[in-house]
Amino acid sequence: MKALQYREIGAAPEVVTVPDPEPGPGQVLLKVTAAGVCHSDIAVMEWPAEGFPYELPMTLGHEGVGTVAALGAGVTGLAEGDAVAVYGPWGCGTCAKCAEGKENYCLRAGELGLFPPGLGAPGSTAEYMLVDDARHLVPIGGLDPVATVPLTDAGLTPYHAIKRSLPKLVPGSTAVVIGTGGLGHVAIQLLRAMTAARVIALDVSEDKLALARTVGAHEAVLSDAQAAATVRELTGGVGAQAVFDCVGVEPTVKTAGAVAAVESDVTIVGIGGAGLPVGFGHLPFEVSVTAPYWGSRGELFEVIELARAGALSVHTETFSLDEAPLAYERLHAGKINGRAVILPNG
Ligand code: NAD
Ligand code: ZN
Ligand code: ZN
Repeated sequence: MKALQYREIGAAPEVVTVPDPEPGPGQVLLKVTAAGVCHSDIAVMEWPAEGFPYELPMTLGHEGVGTVAALGAGVTGLAEGDAVAVYGPWGCGTCAKCAEGKENYCLRAGELGLFPPGLGAPGSTAEYMLVDDARHLVPIGGLDPVATVPLTDAGLTPYHAIKRSLPKLVPGSTAVVIGTGGLGHVAIQLLRAMTAARVIALDVSEDKLALARTVGAHEAVLSDAQAAATVRELTGGVGAQAVFDCVGVEPTVKTAGAVAAVESDVTIVGIGGAGLPVGFGHLPFEVSVTAPYWGSRGELFEVIELARAGALSVHTETFSLDEAPLAYERLHAGKINGRAVILPNG
């Protein structure tokens, strides 16, 4: 079959032919209908050889939707042809965190050598993919695979972050989303569907700010050195009760801290590597800063339910598998508005 692989440190990903995968005991083989392209892959492909955590070559893609093509021995509860979304942060299934459905925080993944598809294990940007266990699949029924696949990460990750801050997002509150790309433009819609907060979106690109407005941001502000002052002004000097930084670089975490209200939540979702110091005098009183990873299995069911209810309209740009390297190039250049989605089987 054909697959998009990251083969060599620093090189662009390539479409290659690899052996057809076959499901072993407990595994599920999916015929991939859609694979989302996340900015984390760009970051991974910029990491140096020293300390690189995954074996190469590696088939990319940690957002996947497909139909069940074959079941390994012992798999029950699924039938050939079922349409499913893949829960990506695969854990052991039995530790205390996994027991809560928080496989993203599995206590034993490191020790057992468990990796998400596309981030260590063979990913979704291929004609077929292996899923290690049926519990990592969520049925999507008749939902559109293209609009649904970004929900497995670009939806699930901000959903998890927003859920933590729900008690603070009461009527009259403000939420700020910094970076309105794949994750950010879904975050805006989740905030509108789940809260009464006023949503202020920040981005460096006018095209992305336009999309932010289209998907429900009340205000869209250029992310520059003045942005924090503008947000303060828009909130009558109070600031935002929750800030979701979907970039995570020095200037954005600085803005995040500068727009935070007293007792607010700042969530650094982007993996730009910047930190925000917490300590007396650094931030307004009782600001809580966190940096989460992905979301739980249960939360993916909840996000899919929101999509079923018609609350989400994910903006996508589709590419064939042969065009997949172009999708990555365009994402790297900041030219994808919404999410790039690859259709490995046309
Ligand atoms: P994306 O490229 O689709 O979106 C990033 C957006 O940020 C773009 O619209 C870009 O114009 C904007 N941007 C860049 N610099 C900015 C700045 N200084 N101020 C405001 N906006 C700026 O990327 P994505 O796939 O949505 O991913 C967003 C980030 O989240 C990445 O760092 C990614 O690695 C990370 N991520 C983290 C998790 C997690 O579990 N924590 C999960 C998925 C993605
Ligand atoms: Zn991702
Ligand atoms: Zn576990």
